[in-house]
Amino acid sequence: MNTEVLEIFRQAVEDPGKEVREWKEKKGGKVVGFLLTDVPEELIHAAGFFPFGICGGTVRMDQVEAHLQFWSCSYVRNSLALALDGKLDFLDGLVIPHTCDTTRMLMGIWKHVRPLPFMDSFRLPRQVGRPSAKQYVVGELRRIKDRLDDFRGTEITDEELSQSFKLYNSNRNLLRKLFNLHEQNPASISNKDLYTVVKASMVIEREKLNMLLSELVSVLAENAGTPNDKTKIFISGTFLEPLDLLNYIDESGGAIVGDDLKNGFRYIESDVAEAGDPLEALAERQLKRIPSASYDIPENLRRHFLVKTAQQKGVQGVILLHVKYCEPENYDYYDNIQALEKAGIPALRIETEFGDTSLGQLSTRVQAFMEMVGGE
Ligand code: SF4
Repeated sequence: MNTEVLEIFRQAVEDPGKEVREWKEKKGGKVVGFLLTDVPEELIHAAGFFPFGICGGTVRMDQVEAHLQFWSCSYVRNSLALALDGKLDFLDGLVIPHTCDTTRMLMGIWKHVRPLPFMDSFRLPRQVGRPSAKQYVVGELRRIKDRLDDFRGTEITDEELSQSFKLYNSNRNLLRKLFNLHEQNPASISNKDLYTVVKASMVIEREKLNMLLSELVSVLAENAGTPNDKTKIFISGTFLEPLDLLNYIDESGGAIVGDDLKNGFRYIESDVAEAGDPLEALAERQLKRIPSASYDIPENLRRHFLVKTAQQKGVQGVILLHVKYCEPENYDYYDNIQALEKAGIPALRIETEFGDTSLGQLSTRVQAFMEMVGGE
């Protein structure tokens, strides 16, 4: 399926800085980048800033060697390399979520090598299931909001927050419709295009994104293909990278019907309540997110979530994507694979890298796995 609007999303992924540079030149506004994706973007948007999701790109890696060990994960290495190489020169600010030891250390390094006018960490709770977790997250959100207030010079109002919540909820709702369309009629949009749209949605102005998504959803719904007779696959991991990996699933007759990825369904799965206290609403969304390697929820452990979702969706195979040197993912891997094996769900583990994954070998492994679980 090829539509003009789809092409806009593809170009945004190809050149993530283009749109934001044009926005900055035209509007003279400020851009606040964020590492994916446990960051309250709505706060940044409500302040009138452009929230820009940093999610990989082609870049020289030599400069980063002086600042990060080779065993830091490739997402963090690639992100810092983009900054060092001037490819994030439009940023006025940066928010890093504390998802692991690597992100905890990164802020200090980034401040040292590429200081920005606004820099802060979002310190996620470790014990998500404790009753005090919500109080803690609200406090953390208030701290970040206060800093954003100072940075723009006036307080972010409840009305501004409410407008941002509505816009983000609408974007997420449209993206969920896209996932649903793909699950019911995989011929309507390929796996690669679906995840291209999600990735692009982190770097396109959110008001414009709403219009683009509305158009895309209505075009695809009109031309919806045949019901799902493809091999159902679930993808689990921290990040989906590189997107080209999905070509092999597309070519092998597979349809991805679920994921727990930071740049996938986990990004858009739930909304922020539009009534009540805004910071509490943001905290509640954060605390109920799909579990991930760095954010496990006692009453919804990731391995249980994986098995339960795979069974509910009738998944034929699970692909575990492992960003090289992602420590939280290392710890989760054995629990996840054992739980899947016990439930009789075939799984394949693949190691990937931002910017430098050898696709040749991966294609053979993915195609062999797809063949085993019922693909073409
Ligand atoms: S990929 Fe893993 S190690 Fe890297 S920033 Fe994310 S959670 Fe941390």
